[in-house]
Formats: sequence, structure tokens, C-alpha cells
Amino acid sequence: MPARILIFDSIATNRILLKVKMIAARFAVDACANLAEAEIAIAAHRPDIMLINMAQADADQTAFCDRLRAVADAAPIAIIAIGVPDTSYARFAALDAGADDVMSHPINDALLLARIRSLLRVRSIHQELVSRDTISRALGFQETPALFEDAAQIAFVTSGPKRWADLSATFSGTMPHKVQLLDMANVLNVVDLTPAPDLFILDATSGALRQNDFSALASDLRSRSETRLAKQLVVVDADLPQVAAMFLDLGADDVVQADKDMREMALRAKALIRRKHQNDRLRDTLRSGLHAAITDPLTGLYNRRYVIPHLTRMAEDADKSDRPFAVMMIDIDHFKVVNDSYGHAAGDRLLIQLADRLCKNLRAVDMVARMGGEEFLVAMPRTTIRQAKLAADRLRRVVNNTVFDLGAGQEDIKVSVSVGVAVSDKACGETPGLERICDLADKALYAAKSAGRNQVAISKSAA
Ligand code: GH3
Ligand code: MG
Ligand code: MG
Repeated sequence: MPARILIFDSIATNRILLKVKMIAARFAVDACANLAEAEIAIAAHRPDIMLINMAQADADQTAFCDRLRAVADAAPIAIIAIGVPDTSYARFAALDAGADDVMSHPINDALLLARIRSLLRVRSIHQELVSRDTISRALGFQETPALFEDAAQIAFVTSGPKRWADLSATFSGTMPHKVQLLDMANVLNVVDLTPAPDLFILDATSGALRQNDFSALASDLRSRSETRLAKQLVVVDADLPQVAAMFLDLGADDVVQADKDMREMALRAKALIRRKHQNDRLRDTLRSGLHAAITDPLTGLYNRRYVIPHLTRMAEDADKSDRPFAVMMIDIDHFKVVNDSYGHAAGDRLLIQLADRLCKNLRAVDMVARMGGEEFLVAMPRTTIRQAKLAADRLRRVVNNTVFDLGAGQEDIKVSVSVGVAVSDKACGETPGLERICDLADKALYAAKSAGRNQVAISKSAA
């Protein structure tokens, strides 16, 4: 589906000209002449981007932009102010009125189209992050709290030191951010940029950076894990709008002309930093949501959901290495009595300590999961039946040999566990095979229970 553009201009010839250009660029286009028409057009077909003539940004337009912003939406309509006189005053007035971007009069078509594509790209990334965030929250995962606006790390890349003085003066006056100066060689050769910059300001004015260098640099920054998510603001020569357009299409997040008021650069940098922080927050929420989805909140162990994918990877490794893996099922003996005698909270404390003992007495490559209640699964890669039996017996002893602390006012108690062990064979690579090995370990566990508890039993087919 093509992106939808709504043109808002009171002059008919402007509307018609722009509409023709936008249709030629394969957008779906609507046009309106006044606020009332704009409201109707938005209600009928929600645009992705609005091009609003803000030759003189007025109170009505500001109120209109505010209304658009107030609509709670995953992807608010992006606004590009057009027809703006090329003065700092007019450009700031448009940005103040709520425009996301300003194009001075006369408009360079290539640059306008590149800005539209850039805003559409930003929208789709944002929309994707927000929808994942919505899913995380629907699943009950908490939003990562918004920290107060962190001071950002800004890296200014140039080979022309003259501009550095202006720039650092601009930033030190307006923002609590840390600016470091890098030259081309630094960025391309130094692998380790710590702390990772949030924003790269790339000086691509003539004499500072050659265009070829720039495209190498921009893609290099995008390809490295530590700079991939950093925003890029490119400073370009004033008289080369087609170069600005090229940079946007190369993936720069914003471009600013070198002759513009330095405050405009600071304003654009601030907007990019805000967006970077917002995206970081959404990504963190997602990451912690994913983590929460596969862990047990009480013990911090993996939960049941994580087990099958983990065993699948282990089975693949067993296939490749030709070395078996082992699965143990561990169940606390008579745990119900602990709860009944000392209370649920004491039972919880015991579960936490027991989980800790299991982890501390296994190799780092072994995985412990809480399957539910007082039952645990241990997966051990590259482990023979003999090694598994030794490990199981060690775990049984570390549980049974030392008392558990049930909290203030409670006596320390001893508990025991029963353990069932099964080891993989050739048929374990498939999911039914994985279910079978868990099943065998389960059966062995119940054999250990029937044989009197506090012992290890080995699956018959594995023995
Ligand atoms: P067996 O030796 O046969 O395994 O006996 P058991 O008492 O351990 O087994 P049973 O399945 O009868 O009881 C398990 C108990 O575990 C019952 C339940 O209240 C308790 N339990 C399950 N989840 C939790 C939990 O998260 N916290 C606490 N404190 N207890 C739990
Ligand atoms: Mg039990
Ligand atoms: Mg049980």
C-alpha cells in the first residue's frame, strides 16, 4: 500500500503542482485548502505525512498541529512545513508550531522526496517498536521506566577543525551532552567507542569529508553493533540540496545545511537524541519482557517455556558432536509437609535456596529450569550416563547434607530430593524425541520416589 500524503495549502496552484509531483512519486495523495477540509480529509483517510504550507505559521496552525499530536496513536502523522521563507525566524516559527521538519521556499523536489522517505522510515521503525511494546505490556511485562533525560554522547566527525569550535560552543551552551571530536581515521579504525555515541554529527561539507568517504562511513557505522542504533545528523553545504537528499536516502536520520543558524542544528540534534532515547527505552522493555517470558520470578531460573527450545539446540549439538546430552528431573520429597508445617512463605524461601544450590553445583553450560511447583529440570550437554549419574548424586547430596534457612523464628530444616535421569540417543533430534527423553527422566523420577525417595534412578532404556 502506498504511503498517504495530505497536502494543506490555501493556494490552488500550489496544491495542484505539489499533488502532481507526489502522485508521480507514487504516493496516495489528498489535498485540502483550509482547516475544516483538513479535518474531514484526515477523518476519511488517515495520512502518514502532511505537507502544510506554513509561510506564516499562525495560532490556528499551531493549535491544529497540537490536536494532531494529542491523538493517542502508535504513529502520529508527521508534518513537513513547506513554503517557509528561508530565514531563521520563519524556520523556528514553523518548528515551534509543531512541524517535524521544515522545507524553505523554493522547495527542492529531490530533497522533499528524500525527507518524506526518511520520515516514513522513522515512522515504520517507531510503529514496529510500539507494537512490540504493546504486546509486551499485554502479556503483563512492565514498561522500562523513563529515566530523566540522560546526557547523550555526541560524536562529531570532521576533518575540518574550524567548525569544531562553533559546534562545541553551540552545544555546551544549550545541552548537558558530552561532545567528542573524532576524525575520519578515528571512527573507521577505532573499534571500541566507549561509551557508544547516541548521535553522530557528520560534517560532510566540502573540504571536510569527501562524498565517497561519507557513504563508506555511514554504512560502516550502520553495520557495527555498537554504532548501529546511533542517530546520524549530516551537515551539508547550503547550495547542494541534491547532496542532502542523497544522504537522507543513504540512511542519515537528518540533514542540516551548514549555513543555517547553529541553533537549528542543536534543535535537530535534540530531536534525534530524544528519539534515540525513546527507541532505546522501547527496546529495553522488549528485552526485559522477553526475559520475563522465559524465567521464573521466584527463583530466577528458566521456566518451562524455555526448556524445549533449549533442548532442541542441545539435540542439534549432540548430533553434530556425536556426544549425548542428559536430562534430570528433580522433585523435592514431601514438600507439601514443609508448606503445611512452616507456611507457604517458608516453602518459597526453601525453593529459592534449593535453586541456588542446584546452579552452584553444576557446570556453567548446564541449564536448570523450574518446571512448576517443586519440580526442576536440569539439561546437561555432552554428558554420558555415568557423568550424569555422578552429577545427580552430587546434587542429591548438596540438598540433603545441609539445612535450609526458613526465615526468622523458624527452625532450620533438612529436605531431600528424588532424581530421575535419562540420556539422549540418536532419535532425540526431533521434538517427539525430546518429549520422550523428558518422559523417560520423569518415569525414572517416579521410580526413585517409589523406591523410597532421597535417591537417584536412571531411565531403564538409557541404562
Ligand atoms: P512427593 O515426595 O511425592 O513429591 O510429595 P510432595 O509433598 O513433594 O508432592 P505434592 O505434589 O503432593 O506437593 C507439592 C507441594 O508443592 C504442594 C504445593 O503446595 C507446593 N508448591 C507448589 N508450588 C509452590 C510454590 O511456589 N511455593 C510453595 N511454597 N509451595 C509450592
Ligand atoms: Mg515433591
Ligand atoms: Mg511434584
